[in-house]
Amino acid sequence: MEDYLLNQSWGLMLHHFHDDINHKKGQGSIDANLFKKLLGYVSEKYNLVNADQFLIKHQKGSLTNEVCITLDDSLKCQYDVALPILKKMGVSAFFFVYTNAFKTNPESLEFYRDFRNNYFDNIENFYLEFFKIFMKTNKKDFKIYKESYPENYLNNFPFYTENDRKFRFVRDKVLGHAKYCQIMDKLLEEKNYCKSDNKDKLFMSMDNLKDISDYGHIVGLHSTSHPTCIDEMSYSSQLQEYRENYNFVYSVTNKKPISMSHPCGKYNKSTISILHELGIKLGFRSSISKDFKRSNLEVPREDHSNLIKKFKLI
Ligand SMILES: [Zn+2]
Repeated sequence: MEDYLLNQSWGLMLHHFHDDINHKKGQGSIDANLFKKLLGYVSEKYNLVNADQFLIKHQKGSLTNEVCITLDDSLKCQYDVALPILKKMGVSAFFFVYTNAFKTNPESLEFYRDFRNNYFDNIENFYLEFFKIFMKTNKKDFKIYKESYPENYLNNFPFYTENDRKFRFVRDKVLGHAKYCQIMDKLLEEKNYCKSDNKDKLFMSMDNLKDISDYGHIVGLHSTSHPTCIDEMSYSSQLQEYRENYNFVYSVTNKKPISMSHPCGKYNKSTISILHELGIKLGFRSSISKDFKRSNLEVPREDHSNLIKKFKLI
């Protein structure tokens, strides 16, 4: 079968890394060795180029089969684990950062992930605790869940377990964001997990970001608050999300940002016109598909986990 990744240009999408010191292994995280191995394979099989070359060719409209490296979400583990490998291999990458990660109280998403990875032996134990609190504190919603959970929910994703599907249904369809956070925060409190104690372990500092830019990597936009569904927000809220993020990146790096990636891969027509207005020239999606008709702000990406599977690296 022909490798569809050979005949198009795309970004390699990376998020979490682990080591033996500060960053514990979690769902989808990779260590320095595997990252090195992965980059070796990518540069052997595909046309891996530096971020600035990718950007220049993109602006000239002359990309054919180039591949670049992208890292999302302003994570400290990228600075600690991935950056030294990039340096060793002499490759520059895109870092897409959201502003609130650098503020005193970042969004809870990363804290919840860290909590799940460090306070439970496995994900099933986490689900057990989560549903216990849910049943106790949100009786009405629990009844709704019991009465309305469709047995075939998400069963087109065969890798999800029964509890994965139930949890996602409760989180996304029954509780919604605010009530979900309430339950999670209660769980954090019960186990004495303190967000502020873990902030510097999870997120880069502004100095880190300045280093990244000074080392020759490209820093781009990823919104202010990292909404999970920015495509459902109004034009003015989206404008605020990206304008603030633009000013933040510009003030830290002293370079006008011209690239970005869409948080959770979500966007709509308003997003695209806002990004054009801000002078953004290159945007990345979070998925890849053979027949997708791309625009300058919709360049596809392949998740590292798919390539690791494809090359049988673990
Ligand atoms: Zn993101």
